[in-house]
Amino acid sequence: MAKQSTIRTPIVCVMGHVDHGKTSLLDRIRGSSVVSTEEGAITQHIGATLVPIDAITRMGGALSKVSVNVPGLLFIDTPGHHAFTTLRARGGALADMAIVVVDINEGFRPQTIEALQILRNYKTPFVIAANKIDRIPGWRVQGNQPFLKTFAQQNERVQGMLETKVYELVGKLSDLGFNSERFDRVSDFARNICIVPTSALTGEGLPDILMVLIGLAQRYMTESLKVSAEGPGAGTVLEVKEERGLGMTLDVILYDGNLKVGDEIVVAGNDQIIETKVRSLLKPRPMSEILIEERFERVKSVTAAAGIKVAAPKLDGVIAGSPLQAVRGGNRDEVIERVRHEVQDIEVNLSDV
Ligand code: GDP
Repeated sequence: MAKQSTIRTPIVCVMGHVDHGKTSLLDRIRGSSVVSTEEGAITQHIGATLVPIDAITRMGGALSKVSVNVPGLLFIDTPGHHAFTTLRARGGALADMAIVVVDINEGFRPQTIEALQILRNYKTPFVIAANKIDRIPGWRVQGNQPFLKTFAQQNERVQGMLETKVYELVGKLSDLGFNSERFDRVSDFARNICIVPTSALTGEGLPDILMVLIGLAQRYMTESLKVSAEGPGAGTVLEVKEERGLGMTLDVILYDGNLKVGDEIVVAGNDQIIETKVRSLLKPRPMSEILIEERFERVKSVTAAAGIKVAAPKLDGVIAGSPLQAVRGGNRDEVIERVRHEVQDIEVNLSDV
């Protein structure tokens, strides 16, 4: 039986040196959401934020003319290399792509270099956010504007200063073996890393960074993003949490297939494989409904990529980072074997950290 495949939302992790603006960038991406509940609005998932393609094209990034079949971007809410390396999927990284945030005024720091080395090892496509452009002396803020629009409003001295700082980053990247260029001058994403000047504080350059990620996914990842929306769900456990009224729950990023209430699932515990059954699937409530007592909204099924809370019996001892696999159509033994195999891999990885 031929399975219908669709291109799923790529999963993005934000990395970079401490204080260079990872959290602020994620907050800014989330913050542009809350106003609207209409179709195509940015939505909060469990442990992640979904930015649909409509929201990105509305912001008007510089590549908005590319034909787009990637449905959007799912950002993991926890930034940093630890999240990148410990959240795994089928032996690779759970994140399909990354943003490396670097303070344009400080340049590369040890954790910037570490992030780049990790991304190179995993062969993960990434973009550089040359952040805090609003701190360049004399910068005139044009809130939320695409980079080229705000750049055109700066005087020559400020423009020159930004160019110098971008070329310092290009030089550092070159020392590490990466070719890079300011994003609007890159024609071949496979050869050059894009540097997008941004401000997480003012939102300048934000439309461009999102659009560059879409461009990267579209040109170089569409094969690996093909999933069967009807297939049994596969995900990675972010956290294991006790929730009032729900008991033990798993916060999961689903990266393949779908998950339904009543599905048999297999996860890894401290010293054993756990088989259980999904009792409920929960999403955060939209901000507009915050007055409703119940914090979560129940859904019957969810399709990758998504962040979801899973309530089920027997979840004590599930380890964070564990794979979660749904069992369907008599493939139980195979699923158990796969989870056992993947968990060995994460244990090796956790001991590396
Ligand atoms: P993280 O450690 O990489 O997550 O960095 P944070 O997001 O916590 O940012 C560190 C500090 O830099 C905070 O005080 C932020 O307000 C500030 N910051 C982050 N991005 C920007 C920016 O684009 N412009 C300015 N002026 N400050 C920023």
